[in-house]
Amino acid sequence: AVIPVALAGRSYQVMVEAGLLANVAEHCAPFLRKARVPIITDANVAQQWRGPVEASLAGAGYEPQWLVLPAGEGAKSWDGLARTIDWLLEQEVERGDHILALGGGVIGDLTGFAASILKRGCSFIQLPTSLLAQVDSSVGGKTAINTPAGKNLVGAFHQPSLVLADLDALETLPTRQLRAGYAEVLKYGVLGDRAFFEWCEEHGTGVIAGDRVLRQQAVSRSVAAKARIVAEDERETTGARALLNLGHTFGHALEAETGFSDRLLHGEAVALGMILAARYSARLGLLSPADAARVAGAVRSAGLETEISALGMDADGHSLARHMLHDKKMDAGTLPFILLRSIGAAFLDRTVALDDVAAFLDEELRS
Ligand code: NAD
Ligand code: ZN
Repeated sequence: AVIPVALAGRSYQVMVEAGLLANVAEHCAPFLRKARVPIITDANVAQQWRGPVEASLAGAGYEPQWLVLPAGEGAKSWDGLARTIDWLLEQEVERGDHILALGGGVIGDLTGFAASILKRGCSFIQLPTSLLAQVDSSVGGKTAINTPAGKNLVGAFHQPSLVLADLDALETLPTRQLRAGYAEVLKYGVLGDRAFFEWCEEHGTGVIAGDRVLRQQAVSRSVAAKARIVAEDERETTGARALLNLGHTFGHALEAETGFSDRLLHGEAVALGMILAARYSARLGLLSPADAARVAGAVRSAGLETEISALGMDADGHSLARHMLHDKKMDAGTLPFILLRSIGAAFLDRTVALDDVAAFLDEELRS
């Protein structure tokens, strides 16, 4: 499938298929002006995918140049950025050149941000290899690094020229990462597409288990949903894009409480956050308790945790709520929450009282 991302200035395509990395040279050729092609990846992805990518590019007469960074969130840092920029300068990358980002959201965010500032902005191509990167981070142009003050606080909007989401890459992705990425797939159904949510209820286990046809559908429907929202609100100004934060305010608090560590992956936190947003919406009388239970059921059937009481956190409702205050989505003193009217109908609410959220979280922690 080819999904267009239609933007005012510059549109681009997202291809979702098997075999894209094995034929990466052919797909990238229209964008490559020189034989030397800089590629940034991480050690895990390099182990699995450097071979096929190298073979395709070398076979077509290119000379791939590799920067292999350590795997993990740590690469998305000032140090990782400096290393990346210095290496790109050594490679004598120029403004019209394309940099290839081969990896998960960490490599995509870092490479995209480096591309946005190198020589005042050069081009890049996303080759997302994690499910999360394929359905979320590689599409939409948000790039960033983390700093000691928090995650994604330094970054830029910088759109890629092309996104190649190769379904074959998911074959080497650890199952835990796959499930975590699937939370963002489910998110598109819960926030805006009840029919897709119901499709996920039926086929989520097949997507996780590796059914190729179902994976193709899950990824392309997710990318289409993200592309639609990004086209409507490229720079997060009209509010449409804010709906993508469903589950992320609660999720951010859980990630902060567990130290942004392997204890709780981002997608795992989003899955729990989505359930909390649904249950909190039900508590406010906005959503039916049956729909809140269905959200939890869909998360459970993907093999993800549904109860924050199971995380073994030494936290209470107020300490969790306090983390939300430090979330970058905080704007002019109010904390925007994405709540649900029904499955498929999320909306932005600015009237949520943090004390009430804290009381709700206390109950959830005890249940
Ligand atoms: P990640 O890049 O760390 O990848 C997860 C793990 O899987 C890593 O260990 C990686 O080496 C490994 N991996 C990736 N693809 C693999 C493959 N095909 N085979 C084997 N191993 C593979 O993390 P992620 O979950 O992909 O992305 C998370 C990052 O994305 C966070 O930094 C988050 O802030 C960012 N993000 C950005 C946006 C955005 O809009 N820019 C949206 C959501 C998340
Ligand atoms: Zn997310």
